[in-house]
Amino acid sequence: MYYRQSFGGFRKSSYRKKRKPPANNNPRILPLFFLCFVRKKINGSGGHTNGVPSVIEFKKTVKQARIRSPLKNFAEETIMFEYRADPLTGRNTTVIRGMLDYQGKFLVSDVEQLNSLVEKTRVSCPFCPENVQSKTPMFTEDFLEEGRIRCGDAVVLPNLLGHAEQSMLAILSKKHHLRLDEFTPNLLVDGFLGAVEYLKRLREVDASIRYPAFAFNYLPPAGSSIFHPHMQILVRDRPFYLADLMLQKSKAYYAANGSSFWSDLLKAEKDGQRYLFGDSGVEWLVPFAPLRGLNEAQAVVAGKSNFLELNNTEWRGLADGISKVLRFYHEQGYGSFNIVVASGPMDEHLDYFDVNLRIISRPGIQQWCFTDAWAAPYLLWDGEAVEDPEVLAKKVRAFLKTMQS
Ligand SMILES: [Zn+2]
Repeated sequence: MYYRQSFGGFRKSSYRKKRKPPANNNPRILPLFFLCFVRKKINGSGGHTNGVPSVIEFKKTVKQARIRSPLKNFAEETIMFEYRADPLTGRNTTVIRGMLDYQGKFLVSDVEQLNSLVEKTRVSCPFCPENVQSKTPMFTEDFLEEGRIRCGDAVVLPNLLGHAEQSMLAILSKKHHLRLDEFTPNLLVDGFLGAVEYLKRLREVDASIRYPAFAFNYLPPAGSSIFHPHMQILVRDRPFYLADLMLQKSKAYYAANGSSFWSDLLKAEKDGQRYLFGDSGVEWLVPFAPLRGLNEAQAVVAGKSNFLELNNTEWRGLADGISKVLRFYHEQGYGSFNIVVASGPMDEHLDYFDVNLRIISRPGIQQWCFTDAWAAPYLLWDGEAVEDPEVLAKKVRAFLKTMQS
């Protein structure tokens, strides 16, 4: 019998037949094949949201491989691989226990090499305060007479080349390099609010460019060619691929279940083993099936479907949460990260979609030039997590407790 998670408990499902375990033709791969469904009663709602059963599935399949390890005098060893389906898109992420320990030495930076690069790049940095006026692009006069948007310490300006027809940058700090525990909420809020000011002006000039995304690439291992802390503001007339997939799948979920995937996700995860914290209308968790899986956290701004709907408190909630996660990264010895904040279209509210964020750490700066952007995630579009998401969530929660005390 096959069961789906229902908020009122398990119920039988007729749309899939009982799965038979695959034949064990390969003695190296044991068919420890099962599906794991998590059930959680939501707010005592009697199993229905808006009168329609809602379903979030956390599907796992566990596989094993056996080898004789040279590290253990060729004794037999079992290696576990856990396939997890993203509850919205179905995309696979493989959890590989032990991979974080294996990759750990590449994830921290060589401090001498980092400091040397900081000094070298400072010399010609266009984003350092003394160079912003003379070395960075300006908006055209018809778009913004002043040429650049200033919001607190943040400066928003066009990108010299960019990644979309509207490709802007927010310089986030007057300092050329920040340790990850130096990304304060204020600095991030200034960047967000400056970016929103730009989006509002863009809406006045060309309302057809309606799909924004904010992205952070911090330091070269994360894809940045400029050291100085900054955020990318990308806006197109069409959504980026993954944002579009999330929009489509969220719409389909809403049509099938009569409720928002995002609110159902938050109800299912709230106070669970992957939940991190809630802050000013923003909920933080470790995703069940991470996109990239290197210390990945996720945030959801409940009930807000595009950037222009967020109020200052919610931007503050995102900034506070990012700052907390970056402090955790710093404590783990990391110095480089990526963030993407995804939005629905700016000209309409969608009941089925919430603004959401992903943050991951990236490798350190070392002579070795290690990258975690290898073939499977890059060219096969598969995810890989270097440890159990639940273990990461536990570590983050423990760290945040030490911050409070
Ligand atoms: Zn600089």
